[in-house]
Amino acid sequence: MKKKRVFVAGHKGMVGSAIIRQLSCRNDVELIVKDRTELDLLDQKAVDTFFAVHDIDEVYLAAAKVGGIHANNTFPAEFIYENLMMECNIIHSAHRHGVQNLLFLGSSCIYPKLADQPMTETALLTGELESTNEPYAIAKIAGIKLCESYNRQYGRNYRSVMPTNLYGMNDNFHPDNSHVIPALMRRFHEAKVNKDSEVIVWGTGTPMREFLYVDDMAAASIHVMELSDDTYHSCTQPMLSHINVGTGVDCTIREMAETMAKVIGFKGSVSFDSTKPDGTPRKLMDVSRLADLGWMFTTDLEGGLTKTYQWFLENQNSFRN
Ligand code: GDP
Repeated sequence: MKKKRVFVAGHKGMVGSAIIRQLSCRNDVELIVKDRTELDLLDQKAVDTFFAVHDIDEVYLAAAKVGGIHANNTFPAEFIYENLMMECNIIHSAHRHGVQNLLFLGSSCIYPKLADQPMTETALLTGELESTNEPYAIAKIAGIKLCESYNRQYGRNYRSVMPTNLYGMNDNFHPDNSHVIPALMRRFHEAKVNKDSEVIVWGTGTPMREFLYVDDMAAASIHVMELSDDTYHSCTQPMLSHINVGTGVDCTIREMAETMAKVIGFKGSVSFDSTKPDGTPRKLMDVSRLADLGWMFTTDLEGGLTKTYQWFLENQNSFRN
């Protein structure tokens, strides 16, 4: 049997590495990966040459410049530029060199700040975006539209998955630039080690977020990539390329912080710094399309935090900041 040649762009990142863990167990897949020193995804010529010489059958586009609310607010130029460039380079060159199947990983922040909850796929482009991450969201919307355009004009099979807030092993645990789960995991852990009596959480604690463990995201991505055309199109509108991925369950930041304290074993108090931005008030995905396509999450928040904390304890000495 000829193995399919699968390129995972961003294989060292949190989601890309989870996809690799799952695909490497498969005997019908030959994985192709390149790290940053071998292939600069911002370099159009290099990316095009890569696709010209490797006979790729499928692409998982998991490479992205990502960060939490503070990083997005502080480095908007890098967030829009790097994401747009990587998407354009990879999607266009994949098409030019005959790759028929591609899965683009987006984000729930593509939806309007005040979209009806839970957010359906059709909420895209129906209202204003959340200002703290608008440049990133615009780049991700462009990625969806790139996929749809190559499907419409050239009959490609480029699909997109829009994950809710993800967390898990290989996340970025930077104290300021990371997302809320890794940031708080580190802060609670350090407070426990230092025997501090209080941990400060940004914002008011009232925003609601939905969290998905990264291994579930990888499984959902592979599931969507491998659906037959007929099944896929039975649940999406003609030419629509994006599908929400989440749990369909959310909680307040305060509740998540309380679960975090329990998992880590921090016994002190939790307080809130309301001078820090809350971001969007609520971001809950409508995951009924994905459910109709036969996929559901398996790891709940406490279980996922427990696995992530185990990984954190084993790897914290290798963090660069
Ligand atoms: P968002 O979903 O795009 O807003 O991404 P984040 O993960 O950065 O933030 C989610 C929510 O957690 C926001 O309301 C933040 O204000 C709140 N939050 C609380 N403490 C922290 C923290 O230490 N880091 C981050 N990134 N967010 C925090």
